Amino acid sequence: MGIYPKSLEKLIKQFSRLPGIGQKSATRVALYVLRSNREMAESLAKSLIEVKEKIKFCSTCFNLTDDDPCPICSDENRSNGTICVVEGPGDQLAIEEAGIFKGRYHVLHGVLSPLNGIGPEDLKIGELLVRLSKEGIKEVILATNPTTEGEATAFFLAKLLSEKDGKLKIARIALGVPMGGDLKYMDRMTLEHALGSRRLINQ
Ligand SMILES: [Zn+2]
Repeated sequence: MGIYPKSLEKLIKQFSRLPGIGQKSATRVALYVLRSNREMAESLAKSLIEVKEKIKFCSTCFNLTDDDPCPICSDENRSNGTICVVEGPGDQLAIEEAGIFKGRYHVLHGVLSPLNGIGPEDLKIGELLVRLSKEGIKEVILATNPTTEGEATAFFLAKLLSEKDGKLKIARIALGVPMGGDLKYMDRMTLEHALGSRRLINQ
């Protein structure tokens, strides 16, 4: 049995189930909550429930949102004919936070994974095809992760999209050596991609 009172043990156990939080951090967070005033605990509990009640998926891009369609899909300035396809909401948030992309997104909610029984019909692929003509899309950027499954999904989509619209520009994000990286620690696949997606710098 634990050394803490039962209700505190229970809270520590709940926190330790969260991703990236081990027993030690969970204990620290739980003790912090215990020391905080009642308002703090109440607003934390309220936020937890609110996020489950209010957040839904945008029915156009399948991104997380409070309102449907999401602010990005309803922003006319972002209807520039470009869609960036990502695996999950976290990837979309990362690109959006970087503030470098001004088009719209499409969240697949996974990648093709035959071993786990995940096929095209399990992802938001049909919904992506519908958007092409509806939104006058001219370029699709495939930004799935550089994993075996992410690559296979990008390859599958590239083929499907070019069959659907021969004039569509289909791009894959450049994969390779990260900023601050060191060539001697890169794996073969990364180096292969880095060399393969090289670009000329003298023109
Ligand atoms: Zn949206």
